[in-house]
Amino acid sequence: MNCIICGAKTAFFLSKHFHEFDLGRVDYSRCSDCGFVLSDTHAQMSERRWEGLNRDFHESYQGSDDNPVDPRWLPRLRAQAQALQAANDAGLLPAGRRLDYACGDGKLSEMLAESSDISLECYDRYMHAPHYLQDGVMQPGSFDFVISTSVFEHLRSRESLESIRSLLAPRGVMGMHTLVCETVPESADWFYYLAVHCAFYSNRSMELLLQQWGYRSSLYHLPSRLWFFFEEDFETIEAQFKSLNARMPGEWFGQSGFVDYWK
Ligand SMILES: [Zn+2]
Repeated sequence: MNCIICGAKTAFFLSKHFHEFDLGRVDYSRCSDCGFVLSDTHAQMSERRWEGLNRDFHESYQGSDDNPVDPRWLPRLRAQAQALQAANDAGLLPAGRRLDYACGDGKLSEMLAESSDISLECYDRYMHAPHYLQDGVMQPGSFDFVISTSVFEHLRSRESLESIRSLLAPRGVMGMHTLVCETVPESADWFYYLAVHCAFYSNRSMELLLQQWGYRSSLYHLPSRLWFFFEEDFETIEAQFKSLNARMPGEWFGQSGFVDYWK
Protein backbone atom coordinates (compact mmCIF):
# COMPACT_ATOMS: atom_id res chain seq x y z
CA MET A 1 0.00 0.00 0.00
CA ASN A 2 1.02 3.59 -0.51
CA CYS A 3 0.53 6.53 1.80
CA ILE A 4 -2.51 8.65 0.90
CA ILE A 5 -0.58 11.76 1.93
CA CYS A 6 2.87 11.42 0.36
CA GLY A 7 2.69 8.26 -1.76
CA ALA A 8 5.57 6.46 -0.03
CA LYS A 9 5.34 2.77 0.97
CA THR A 10 3.40 1.93 4.09
CA ALA A 11 4.00 -1.00 6.42
CA PHE A 12 1.95 -2.82 9.04
CA PHE A 13 2.04 -0.81 12.26
CA LEU A 14 -0.27 -2.37 14.85
CA SER A 15 -3.51 -4.23 15.44
CA LYS A 16 -6.23 -3.48 17.92
CA HIS A 17 -9.18 -5.61 18.93
CA PHE A 18 -12.50 -3.86 19.42
CA HIS A 19 -15.29 -5.50 21.36
CA GLU A 20 -17.93 -3.01 20.23
CA PHE A 21 -20.07 -2.57 17.08
CA ASP A 22 -18.95 -5.98 15.70
CA LEU A 23 -15.72 -4.35 14.65
CA GLY A 24 -13.27 -7.02 15.77
CA ARG A 25 -9.64 -6.71 14.74
CA VAL A 26 -8.45 -3.47 13.13
CA ASP A 27 -5.08 -3.25 11.34
CA TYR A 28 -3.22 0.02 11.02
CA SER A 29 -0.32 0.80 8.70
CA ARG A 30 2.23 3.59 8.90
CA CYS A 31 3.97 5.52 6.16
CA SER A 32 7.72 4.98 6.10
CA ASP A 33 8.29 8.58 5.10
CA CYS A 34 5.78 11.01 6.61
CA GLY A 35 4.61 8.86 9.53
CA PHE A 36 0.90 9.10 8.66
CA VAL A 37 -1.10 6.16 10.04
CA LEU A 38 -4.22 4.75 8.36
CA SER A 39 -6.55 1.97 9.38
CA ASP A 40 -6.48 -0.47 6.47
CA THR A 41 -9.50 -2.21 7.97
CA HIS A 42 -11.59 0.96 7.80
CA ALA A 43 -10.21 1.92 4.38
CA GLN A 44 -11.34 -1.43 2.93
CA MET A 45 -14.73 -1.52 4.63
CA SER A 46 -17.81 -1.30 2.40
CA GLU A 47 -19.57 2.08 2.40
CA ARG A 48 -22.62 0.40 3.90
CA ARG A 49 -20.70 -1.08 6.81
CA TRP A 50 -18.82 2.19 7.38
CA GLU A 51 -22.06 4.18 7.52
CA GLY A 52 -23.56 1.66 9.92
CA LEU A 53 -20.54 1.84 12.18
CA ASN A 54 -20.70 5.63 12.31
CA ARG A 55 -24.41 5.64 12.96
CA ASP A 56 -24.12 3.16 15.82
CA PHE A 57 -21.19 5.04 17.31
CA HIS A 58 -22.61 8.56 17.10
CA GLU A 59 -26.11 7.61 18.13
CA SER A 60 -24.61 6.72 21.45
CA TYR A 61 -24.19 10.43 22.29
CA GLN A 62 -25.28 12.94 19.62
CA GLY A 63 -28.19 15.21 20.34
CA SER A 64 -27.06 15.38 23.94
CA ASP A 65 -24.37 17.52 25.51
CA ASP A 66 -22.38 14.50 26.71
CA ASN A 67 -19.78 12.69 24.72
CA PRO A 68 -18.18 9.94 26.76
CA VAL A 69 -15.19 9.53 24.41
CA ASP A 70 -14.55 13.27 24.23
CA PRO A 71 -15.55 14.90 27.52
CA ARG A 72 -13.93 18.22 26.53
CA TRP A 73 -16.20 18.49 23.49
CA LEU A 74 -18.39 21.38 24.67
CA PRO A 75 -15.67 23.55 26.23
CA ARG A 76 -13.60 23.06 23.07
CA LEU A 77 -16.56 24.07 20.87
CA ARG A 78 -16.98 27.24 22.94
CA ALA A 79 -13.29 27.99 22.51
CA GLN A 80 -13.62 27.34 18.76
CA ALA A 81 -16.47 29.85 18.55
CA GLN A 82 -14.27 32.41 20.34
CA ALA A 83 -11.35 31.68 18.01
CA LEU A 84 -13.54 32.19 14.95
CA GLN A 85 -14.88 35.46 16.33
CA ALA A 86 -11.35 36.70 17.04
CA ALA A 87 -10.01 35.63 13.63
CA ASN A 88 -12.98 37.32 11.99
CA ASP A 89 -12.44 40.53 13.97
CA ALA A 90 -8.76 40.48 12.93
CA GLY A 91 -9.79 40.31 9.27
CA LEU A 92 -8.47 36.77 8.77
CA LEU A 93 -11.72 35.10 7.75
CA PRO A 94 -12.68 35.99 4.19
CA ALA A 95 -16.15 37.44 3.75
CA GLY A 96 -18.56 35.44 1.64
CA ARG A 97 -19.81 31.92 2.10
CA ARG A 98 -18.61 30.07 5.18
CA LEU A 99 -19.22 26.38 5.75
CA ASP A 100 -19.10 23.94 8.64
CA TYR A 101 -18.22 20.72 6.79
CA ALA A 102 -19.47 17.53 8.45
CA CYS A 103 -21.20 19.67 11.04
CA GLY A 104 -22.84 16.77 12.90
CA ASP A 105 -25.75 18.16 14.87
CA GLY A 106 -24.70 21.71 14.01
CA LYS A 107 -23.61 22.78 17.48
CA LEU A 108 -20.81 25.11 16.32
CA SER A 109 -22.99 27.17 13.97
CA GLU A 110 -25.71 27.27 16.64
CA MET A 111 -23.24 28.57 19.20
CA LEU A 112 -21.92 31.20 16.77
CA ALA A 113 -25.43 32.33 15.89
CA GLU A 114 -26.11 32.92 19.59
CA SER A 115 -22.87 34.65 20.46
CA SER A 116 -21.54 36.36 17.33
CA ASP A 117 -22.38 37.80 13.95
CA ILE A 118 -20.66 34.89 12.18
CA SER A 119 -22.95 32.71 10.15
CA LEU A 120 -21.86 29.22 9.07
CA GLU A 121 -23.72 27.16 6.52
CA CYS A 122 -24.00 23.50 7.49
CA TYR A 123 -23.31 20.31 5.59
CA ASP A 124 -23.11 16.73 6.74
CA ARG A 125 -23.05 13.75 4.43
CA TYR A 126 -24.52 11.46 7.06
CA MET A 127 -26.71 13.75 9.16
CA HIS A 128 -29.53 15.90 7.91
CA ALA A 129 -31.62 18.84 9.05
CA PRO A 130 -33.97 21.07 7.02
CA HIS A 131 -31.48 23.97 6.82
CA TYR A 132 -28.44 21.83 5.92
CA LEU A 133 -27.02 22.07 2.41
CA GLN A 134 -27.81 19.16 0.09
CA ASP A 135 -25.19 17.11 -1.76
CA GLY A 136 -26.18 18.63 -5.10
CA VAL A 137 -25.05 22.15 -4.15
CA MET A 138 -21.65 21.15 -2.80
CA GLN A 139 -19.81 22.40 -5.87
CA PRO A 140 -16.03 22.93 -6.05
CA GLY A 141 -14.85 26.43 -5.22
CA SER A 142 -18.14 27.44 -3.59
CA PHE A 143 -16.86 28.60 -0.22
CA ASP A 144 -14.50 31.26 1.10
CA PHE A 145 -14.06 29.61 4.48
CA VAL A 146 -14.50 25.94 5.30
CA ILE A 147 -14.10 24.61 8.80
CA SER A 148 -14.04 20.95 9.78
CA THR A 149 -13.76 19.95 13.41
CA SER A 150 -13.11 16.35 14.41
CA VAL A 151 -13.48 15.24 10.80
CA PHE A 152 -10.01 14.52 9.40
CA GLU A 153 -9.54 11.56 11.76
CA HIS A 154 -12.67 9.97 10.25
CA LEU A 155 -11.48 10.12 6.63
CA ARG A 156 -10.56 6.84 4.93
CA SER A 157 -9.20 8.01 1.59
CA ARG A 158 -7.38 10.73 -0.28
CA GLU A 159 -10.63 11.44 -2.15
CA SER A 160 -12.32 12.33 1.13
CA LEU A 161 -9.58 14.83 1.94
CA GLU A 162 -9.80 16.31 -1.55
CA SER A 163 -13.56 16.64 -1.33
CA ILE A 164 -13.05 19.12 1.51
CA ARG A 165 -10.17 21.04 -0.09
CA SER A 166 -11.96 21.36 -3.42
CA LEU A 167 -14.85 23.25 -1.85
CA LEU A 168 -12.68 26.30 -1.28
CA ALA A 169 -12.54 29.23 -3.66
CA PRO A 170 -9.12 30.67 -4.55
CA ARG A 171 -7.55 32.36 -1.48
CA GLY A 172 -10.16 30.71 0.70
CA VAL A 173 -9.19 29.84 4.27
CA MET A 174 -9.49 26.42 5.85
CA GLY A 175 -10.14 25.89 9.56
CA MET A 176 -9.38 22.44 10.93
CA HIS A 177 -9.38 20.55 14.21
CA THR A 178 -7.96 17.08 14.54
CA LEU A 179 -5.20 15.57 16.64
CA VAL A 180 -1.73 16.07 15.16
CA CYS A 181 1.37 14.77 16.89
CA GLU A 182 5.08 14.41 16.17
CA THR A 183 4.97 10.59 16.12
CA VAL A 184 1.76 8.58 16.11
CA PRO A 185 1.94 6.27 19.17
CA GLU A 186 2.52 2.57 18.56
CA SER A 187 0.48 1.52 21.60
CA ALA A 188 -2.98 0.10 20.86
CA ASP A 189 -4.03 1.58 24.20
CA TRP A 190 -3.68 5.13 22.88
CA PHE A 191 -6.99 6.90 23.53
CA TYR A 192 -7.30 8.14 19.95
CA TYR A 193 -7.55 4.64 18.43
CA LEU A 194 -11.34 4.66 18.53
CA ALA A 195 -13.79 2.50 16.60
CA VAL A 196 -14.54 5.29 14.11
CA HIS A 197 -11.09 6.90 13.82
CA CYS A 198 -9.26 5.95 10.62
CA ALA A 199 -6.52 8.54 10.05
CA PHE A 200 -3.75 9.72 12.38
CA TYR A 201 -1.58 12.65 11.37
CA SER A 202 2.04 13.36 12.17
CA ASN A 203 3.37 16.90 11.92
CA ARG A 204 5.28 15.95 8.79
CA SER A 205 2.23 14.48 7.06
CA MET A 206 0.23 17.63 7.79
CA GLU A 207 3.08 19.84 6.58
CA LEU A 208 3.16 17.88 3.30
CA LEU A 209 -0.61 18.04 2.91
CA LEU A 210 -0.57 21.83 3.31
CA GLN A 211 2.18 22.13 0.71
CA GLN A 212 0.26 19.92 -1.73
CA TRP A 213 -2.84 22.01 -1.19
CA GLY A 214 -1.06 25.29 -1.81
CA TYR A 215 -1.23 26.62 1.72
CA ARG A 216 1.83 28.66 2.63
CA SER A 217 1.15 29.62 6.24
CA SER A 218 -0.96 28.64 9.21
CA LEU A 219 -2.14 29.81 12.60
CA TYR A 220 -2.97 27.64 15.60
CA HIS A 221 -5.29 28.63 18.43
CA LEU A 222 -4.21 26.54 21.39
CA PRO A 223 -7.32 26.65 23.67
CA SER A 224 -9.61 25.47 20.88
CA ARG A 225 -7.06 23.16 19.17
CA LEU A 226 -7.96 24.85 15.90
CA TRP A 227 -5.68 25.46 12.93
CA PHE A 228 -6.25 28.00 10.14
CA PHE A 229 -4.54 27.45 6.76
CA PHE A 230 -3.76 30.36 4.41
CA GLU A 231 -2.58 30.56 0.82
CA GLU A 232 -0.78 33.79 1.70
CA ASP A 233 2.80 33.93 2.99
CA PHE A 234 3.12 34.30 6.73
CA GLU A 235 4.48 37.83 6.28
CA THR A 236 1.17 38.83 4.68
CA ILE A 237 -0.88 37.79 7.72
CA GLU A 238 1.70 38.58 10.40
CA ALA A 239 0.16 41.92 11.44
CA GLN A 240 -3.23 40.28 12.00
CA PHE A 241 -1.54 37.43 13.88
CA LYS A 242 0.12 39.96 16.18
CA SER A 243 -3.20 41.70 16.81
CA LEU A 244 -4.73 38.36 17.82
CA ASN A 245 -1.93 37.73 20.27
CA ALA A 246 -2.22 41.24 21.69
CA ARG A 247 -5.88 40.54 22.39
CA MET A 248 -5.47 36.91 23.53
CA PRO A 249 -1.91 36.67 24.86
CA GLY A 250 -0.19 33.32 24.47
CA GLU A 251 -3.16 31.68 22.75
CA TRP A 252 -2.11 31.99 19.08
CA PHE A 253 0.85 30.51 17.20
CA GLY A 254 1.71 31.23 13.59
CA GLN A 255 4.41 30.45 11.04
CA SER A 256 5.18 29.61 7.44
CA GLY A 257 3.87 26.15 6.60
CA PHE A 258 2.16 24.06 9.26
CA VAL A 259 2.24 25.10 12.94
CA ASP A 260 3.70 21.91 14.43
CA TYR A 261 2.77 22.88 17.96
CA TRP A 262 2.68 19.33 19.40
CA LYS A 263 6.30 18.17 19.25
ZN1 LIG B 1 3.38 9.44 3.85
